Amino acid sequence: MHTITLNGSETPIAVGKIICLARNYVAHAHELGNEVPSEPVIFIKPASSMIFEGDQVEIPPYSDDCHHEVELAVLIGTQGKNIAAEDAMSHISGYGIAIDMTLRDTQAKLKEKGFPWEKAKGFDTACPISRFVNADQIDDPHNLAIQLSVNGQLRQDSNTACMIRRIPETIAAITQGFTLEPGDIILTGTPAGVGRVVSGDTMATMIEGIGTLQVSVK
Ligand code: ZN
Repeated sequence: MHTITLNGSETPIAVGKIICLARNYVAHAHELGNEVPSEPVIFIKPASSMIFEGDQVEIPPYSDDCHHEVELAVLIGTQGKNIAAEDAMSHISGYGIAIDMTLRDTQAKLKEKGFPWEKAKGFDTACPISRFVNADQIDDPHNLAIQLSVNGQLRQDSNTACMIRRIPETIAAITQGFTLEPGDIILTGTPAGVGRVVSGDTMATMIEGIGTLQVSVK
């Protein structure tokens, strides 16, 4: 079982699926030469890909181009299917910070062939994730500074206000096809500034009101 914690509680919460949005910030879609999608592009990371504060990302031997993508993580507290956007926020129990580690070279090869992205996005250690804070501690999740630096150099510096698809619409869209259950997590996409990390690098992230998350690369 793979677990996270909410608000410093010692009681672990079992994580189910981690549903991730691709291309949810305009400037990031453009930096990779992608169009802004008219419908959400989603993929799933397994819970086994999570690591935590102070842990190490281990780049698989089949990649030589591992990228960081800092993202606001949304923790689901109550089950729902076909959730209306107006009701969506009531299904959220917490917010955290995640890094969607991505093997860009592997992903490019898979994309070219029309294959799924899991080898590039779901490998062990591909989801560094913070402790979560209670949803009621965050007044507006669509107005939070979000940053990632590598070895002290700021690489990603944006605000969740720049999301294309907001959290209620995302939850409404996802639950047309997928039941969201307590312990599921949604990664809401990354702002511009993604880039490569190599062995020995340290990534430090911050989301306003949530806290920080720091991991290194083995
Ligand atoms: Zn991402």
